[in-house]
Order: sequence, then C-alpha cells, then structure tokens
Amino acid sequence: MKFAERMSHLGTETAFEVLAVVNRLKAEGRDITSFSIGEPDFETPENIREAAKKAIDDEFTHYCPSAGMMDFRESIATYVNGTRGTGYGPENIVVTPGAKPIMFYVILALAESGDEVVYPNPGFPIYESMIDFVGATAVPLPLEEKHAFSFDVEKLEALVSDRTQLLIINSPQNPTGGVVPRESLERVAELSEKHDFMVLSDEIYSRLVHDGEFQSITRFPGMQDRTIILDGHSKTYAMTGWRLGYGCMPEELANAIAKLMTNSNSCTAAFTQVAGKEALEGDQSGADMMSKTFHERRDIIVDGLNAIDGITCLSPAGAFYVWPNVTEVCAKLGLPDSKALQNYLLFEAGVAVLGRQCFGRRAEDEDQEYIRFSYAASTEVIQEGLRRIEEATADVERARAWWATQT
Ligand code: PLP
Repeated sequence: MKFAERMSHLGTETAFEVLAVVNRLKAEGRDITSFSIGEPDFETPENIREAAKKAIDDEFTHYCPSAGMMDFRESIATYVNGTRGTGYGPENIVVTPGAKPIMFYVILALAESGDEVVYPNPGFPIYESMIDFVGATAVPLPLEEKHAFSFDVEKLEALVSDRTQLLIINSPQNPTGGVVPRESLERVAELSEKHDFMVLSDEIYSRLVHDGEFQSITRFPGMQDRTIILDGHSKTYAMTGWRLGYGCMPEELANAIAKLMTNSNSCTAAFTQVAGKEALEGDQSGADMMSKTFHERRDIIVDGLNAIDGITCLSPAGAFYVWPNVTEVCAKLGLPDSKALQNYLLFEAGVAVLGRQCFGRRAEDEDQEYIRFSYAASTEVIQEGLRRIEEATADVERARAWWATQT
C-alpha cells in the first residue's frame, strides 16, 4: 500500500505497545506487576458515573456543538478561572475526546515547516511525534536530574529565538514527575513576549501536586493571550477511558481548533460532557482521595527504589510517576541501556516499566539511564514489584545470561 509521505514522520506512544505485550503475557498466564500505563487504578467516582447514566436516559445522545456544550464550557471556564486566576469565558474553551487531541490540533494549527517548536525531553512522546508530523523543527529542551527534572533557564534562553513558534511545557511532568518552579515559569513568560511565541501548557496533572501549590504560566501578565492550557478529566477524575479533555486559549485559536474538531470528530460525546460538568462542580472527595493516596504511594516507591543497589530516585513533586536513575544497575547487570533493563524486568521478573526510549529522542551527550514507574497501583502491587526488582537486579549471572540470549 502506498502511504502519504507525511505518515513516515508520525511517531507513537510506545506505552500502548508495552501494554499490549503485558496483556498478552497475562493472557498466557504470566503474573505481571505493571507500572507501565499512566492511568489511575481507581474507578471513576460514583457521582460522575451516575450523572452519565442519567444523561443517557435524558437523551444526551445526539450531536452537539463542535467546541463543546455551552453549559460544560461555562463550567470549565469557572473551574479554570478558580484554579488559575484567569479570566476565560466559554468562547475560550474547546472540549475534545481526551486531552490528547488538544496537542494534536494546536500543533497542527500553529506550526509548519520553517517553524521551531521547543518541547520537554524526556517528555510525553506525542509532542515530538506531532512536531515531526507537521514538518516543523523539533527542538528538545532537556529536563535534567540536577534541576529536579525541570529545565535550565539559561539553556532554554539559548534555544529560543524569533524562529520559535511554540514552546511546550508540562508541569507536573510525565515521565519524571518534575514540577517547573515559579521563577522558571516567569522566565518563560518573559521569553514568550520577547520572541513572540505561544506556550502550550500541558496541565493535565494540575491536581496532582504533592509538594507546594500548582502554578500555571497563565498567572503572569499577558500570558492568557499567549497560552493554550491543556487539561482534562482523565487523570484527576480517573476517567481515562471516557475520553474527555479540553483546551483554554485565545478565542481566535479556539475557533480554529473547533473547526478542526468539526473536520475530524464532529463533537465530543454529549453524555460524557454532562458527566464532566458534574465532575467539576460536584463532590470532589473522590479526586481528593486519589491525590492524597498518590502522595502516600510516592513516598513508598521512592524509599523502596532507593533501597535497591544501583538505583537512585528523586522524590518528584507531582503526577504519579517516578523516574529513577538506573545507570549503575544497568552497568552492574551488563545491560547496555534502559530499554534492555525494561525488557529484562518484564520478561525475567514480571515487572512492566518503561525505558528512556519511550519518551522522545535521546540527546547525543546523554549518558544516564532512567526508567519510568507509574505508581498508580496499590501499595501491595508496589511492594511486590519492588521485591521482584530487588531480586532480579541482585542476580547478575541471570541478567548476563539473559542478555546473551538477546544479542
Ligand atoms: N498530557 C500528558 C503529559 C499525559 O501524560 C497524557 C496522558 O498520559 C495526556 C496529556 C493525555 O491525556 P488524555 O488521556 O486525556 O488524552
């Protein structure tokens, strides 16, 4: 089959490929402890589920506006203004099936050949994939352990120029759990004005900040006009499978994104929007309980990983990910990189994690290895996973013998 040339530039999210392998191994009867997929292990809170059931009975089963139902957009504007101090109205909001389409559409609408787009690396893989897809130049902004997995503002200053069309930030961050400090956000805001670029601020983990308060770049003067906030219900309300997200942006851009919605999805499912409104306006105890539980689990997994020989793990300030440094343990086991460690742990120890390669292209000078754990798993699962990793990484002979079969 002949594909359009642009398809050769499209990347993917390998977490879904690892998930498929995990499911296959489970179907074969293997006992797998999974830390690979980034979704809450909780059920959607009951008030939200009930609202959806009622909405179906109330016949919210038809097409609705491409940008989202007016009620829901008003509700989102109120919620975002309350959590960020912004002044959005419904005309600034576009509702999409999951938050991911916001990055797809925004990059498609704003960037093209000749433009540079700066994005966090390691980072959510779809940023890089989409920048490549639209033919723009992908400029990775390194997130480093020495900056608690935020970025060095001086490095950022050296990367941006008048060619920069868009800068992507993600805080709290996937895969590292890092949070961008207030001063760095302020500097980004100044640079955005100086070089006249837009900022796509991926705030999908805004309700999962474990240390300190959530900060949005929109708090700085003029930034509401230069920012697209990406957020949604997937992580905060354990609604990954519902597909419900949104973007907040200048009206002119919101109209363009709504047009892309008309051309692709027509609209987001109406009854999920009714339930989404209940999520934002109703009882928050489910969301608060999940956030508190993730905080407790973070401490368990960080302590457990640091107790394993050859692994060191910073305590990240947000999300439900940890990004331990596994350089030493790879060297000890004779494994060349984190991808080999990912496979060793999956096939030999029954533990699913994701290696560095799942989160964007490596820089040439990168010499450290990391793996991502999504600790959206019960304390028992976390403890069992840690036990298996400790056992598998203590067995140097076994790892070397396994690697020999792979090469
Ligand atoms: N942004 C980041 C940083 C994510 O980690 C994810 C999901 O893993 C998304 C966006 C997409 O969220 P959704 O499932 O609502 O499309």
